[in-house]
Amino acid sequence: MPELPDVEIFKRRLARHGLRKKITHVAVGDSRILGTLSARKLNSRLLGRQLVSTRRHGKHLLAKIGGDGWLTLHFGLTGGLQFFKAPASRPPFTRVCLDLAGGEHLAYTNKRMIGRVGLAEDARAFIAHEKLGPDALDRRFGTAVFRKAVAGVRRDVKSVLMDQEILAGVGNIYADEILFRARIDPRTRIDKIEAPELSRLYRTIRAVLKTAISRGAGSEQFAERMPKGSLLPMRKKGGRCPRCGHPLKTIKSGGRTTYFCAGCQKR
Ligand SMILES: [Zn+2]
Repeated sequence: MPELPDVEIFKRRLARHGLRKKITHVAVGDSRILGTLSARKLNSRLLGRQLVSTRRHGKHLLAKIGGDGWLTLHFGLTGGLQFFKAPASRPPFTRVCLDLAGGEHLAYTNKRMIGRVGLAEDARAFIAHEKLGPDALDRRFGTAVFRKAVAGVRRDVKSVLMDQEILAGVGNIYADEILFRARIDPRTRIDKIEAPELSRLYRTIRAVLKTAISRGAGSEQFAERMPKGSLLPMRKKGGRCPRCGHPLKTIKSGGRTTYFCAGCQKR
């Protein structure tokens, strides 16, 4: 579930509370989240060090470890990043917990264990290794870059928006929101979209992601805090189009549910 806006919120949280504080203890609650990395290795790389800066690429969050290397965090479907002080406030499903000098604890949570906590020597090499396309909010990701990225692609627009190798950061929920705002049927093949509409789609991607960040993506009652006319609060059984009032249509693709308005979104 955490998509670009949610991970950007985690990044800001980490930047505000977690940097330049000595890591005094590393606890791995479930080492499956580390993949092939051992808890011992993670511990030896982090203990006594500080996290000194943050970087986000798509749905990946990276924290530079003072000295060398990066801590990499991916949140899968149910991951999160929280700070807490009192042991009683430890969030459920904490898989990795860093104790920081000054008394705060940084918890990486993940209920369903899809996601990854890892180490990387170099951020750019990590992004290349993960085969990530340009970050959807990167300053260098302009209309021309978007056009080039989708040139020759002949799949439906929704799967293209969610393809992290083409464009990093958009997942199921924001793909639906973007296509609703751009009034494009999610089943439309991207190569059938005319140039002006493709430019509008590009601008909509950026606008929707930025709005979600500014409204506090992922927080409680977040859906209700999105601007009037957003699809997000209507993504539920019996949801109606916020524009025309017709019942929303749902289709399944790859196990995920797509919501759209067959009336307002054109093929
Ligand atoms: Zn409608």
